[in-house]
Amino acid sequence: MRLHRFALLGMMLGLSGAALAAGTTVDADSLHPGWLDTHASPAQSFYQFANGGWQKSHPIPAAYSTWGTFNILQVRNETIIRQLIQDAAKAHAPDGSAAQKVGDFYASGMDEQLIDRLGIGPLSPELDGIAGIRNLSDLQREVAQLQMIGVDAMFGIGEMQDFKDSSRVIGVAGQGGIGLPDRDYYLKQDPKFKQIRAEYVAHLTRTFQLLGDGRQLAAREAGIVMTIETGLAKASMSRVQQRDPRAIYHVMTLVQLDRATPNFSWSEYFREIGYPQITSINLAMPEFFGALGKDLRSVPLEQWKIYLRWRLIDAFAPYLSKPFVDENFRMQSAVTGAQKLLPRWQRVVNAEDDALGFAVGKLYVEKEFPPSSKAQVLEILHGIRAALKGDLATLPWMTPTTRKAALVKLDLMGERIGYPDKWRDYSTLRIDRGPYVLNVMRANEFEQKRELNKVGKPVDHDEWFMTPQEVNAYYDPSMNNINFPAGILQPPFFDPKAPAAVNYGAVGWVMGHEMTHGFDDQGAQFDGHGNLKNWWTPEDAKRFHAATSCISNQFSGYTVDGDLHVQGKLVTGEETADLGGMMLAWRAFHASSAYKSAKIVDGFTPDQQFFLGAAHVWANNIRPAEARRRVTIDPHAPALYRVNGTLANLPQFQEAFQVPAGSPMVSAHRCVIW
Ligand SMILES: [Zn+2]
Repeated sequence: MRLHRFALLGMMLGLSGAALAAGTTVDADSLHPGWLDTHASPAQSFYQFANGGWQKSHPIPAAYSTWGTFNILQVRNETIIRQLIQDAAKAHAPDGSAAQKVGDFYASGMDEQLIDRLGIGPLSPELDGIAGIRNLSDLQREVAQLQMIGVDAMFGIGEMQDFKDSSRVIGVAGQGGIGLPDRDYYLKQDPKFKQIRAEYVAHLTRTFQLLGDGRQLAAREAGIVMTIETGLAKASMSRVQQRDPRAIYHVMTLVQLDRATPNFSWSEYFREIGYPQITSINLAMPEFFGALGKDLRSVPLEQWKIYLRWRLIDAFAPYLSKPFVDENFRMQSAVTGAQKLLPRWQRVVNAEDDALGFAVGKLYVEKEFPPSSKAQVLEILHGIRAALKGDLATLPWMTPTTRKAALVKLDLMGERIGYPDKWRDYSTLRIDRGPYVLNVMRANEFEQKRELNKVGKPVDHDEWFMTPQEVNAYYDPSMNNINFPAGILQPPFFDPKAPAAVNYGAVGWVMGHEMTHGFDDQGAQFDGHGNLKNWWTPEDAKRFHAATSCISNQFSGYTVDGDLHVQGKLVTGEETADLGGMMLAWRAFHASSAYKSAKIVDGFTPDQQFFLGAAHVWANNIRPAEARRRVTIDPHAPALYRVNGTLANLPQFQEAFQVPAGSPMVSAHRCVIW
């Protein structure tokens, strides 16, 4: 709930990041004539026209489930980061320094011989702990310990800014404890989801065999895990339900928490995780905890122990010996369609990015983000802010009361470019040359504690929730700020040498998108200080709701992998941001001094360059299994529809490419945000 990102990156099932495809670079010529499919008509599918050539010449590498501009930038970053890490590893930095940790983490991850020799050994203390469970209170204690080292066992614990008092940080517990990407994978009767369930049970069976259990026993254990996880999935809220902030906000005292969770003692739990001072949290999904509490007694203890063994292995398999890594990948492959494991160095760089992301990020920005970039980017950003201000001031349907509050919210919206002013302190995290999996485990624990340490303390307004190297951007409704890491401020998003039209269409769209999140169907429920508080008059709220419903209806009509429909209600916020953001970027471009001197390039008018710049952000190919996974879990629409669905609502686009009425690139019911 916390962040509204521009794109879904970090993957489930431990799959993250990208691999090096030979010879793939982002073209220097910023209009990318080679990306076009000039046989396609912009009026039929602008996406095909803008990216059809790219799609043809960029098949998905075997190790990937999707391949696009984001992946190519990630691979570029991974290559840079590997060099930085290797330099750190060679420097023999003083013990305990950030450079020592950065270097040693990588060295431990690359030490394949040691990793393979140790096998499951490093997890013995945890496996012994699980085997020693004799009663419900042992079970609860073990779950608490596993959660602290990063195991998704039963449910999740963390922190959040209090929705209703954004000056406070409170604890939050939410649904979790399942190995497939979403409840739909357990519950949908569609044959493709059934197929993945069958593969999952086979994967569970093989994993228990790797732990030394006989085939028959392993198959029985797999069935037990599947039953427990299906129960948790059934009790879970859908992603659409979770988009309502009021539906996931239930701050409770210890007495209320215990009442909501039968057979579980929250005061003991907080002591077990090391935070006895916590006496109230947001129990985000009370029904889930009600069902889990009942299961605690109705499911036999021996079965819970089998489940916990699985959750432990599922969390750490990617960092163990080859048989575990391969088995883990087999399941990822079934879910995403990727055919080959990434090279080890890339997997280690990605794990290190999770573990020590800001230590790596500090090295990254010193090398990759010149101060001159910041000034140019700010000029575009301020143009977009002015466009939004102009819209809010003049929207004909908005009443004066709502208008005033909206303008206050925009004035209070913070903006941050590049990287944090204050770097994260890793001094209490111990990293050494191995075993690798223990470095990962300690990094997980460090992060879990770092988060829980915030509970009850004032909000740290300097904190960033994305590393500088991440190719993404976000809006945070509780902070009411927009954030653009250095990673996204490079071509094809931002290119100091590109025509201004292209930069406005690409990075300008990203900026307008994040700013519009402050006013999408969720963002509009938070005020300028980040509090969940209604600042709309009833008639304005009704009109605004009609505008966002138009978007959810439009996107519900789109499908992937044959017949799977986009969940219009899941993507409402993101597609509102896409439409609003595109409109703002277009207006900012037209109001800029650069527009006055803009020229025709390669036969394209400045307006045409703007829309090509926008579409090129989403040049992408995707495997059917991955398309299915994303439609199930991702609040963003697929790339094709982010471009075509958004532009079909824009008369400015239709004018730029002379799209006739009645074409697929003209919405029958035009949606309007700004
Ligand atoms: Zn977004």
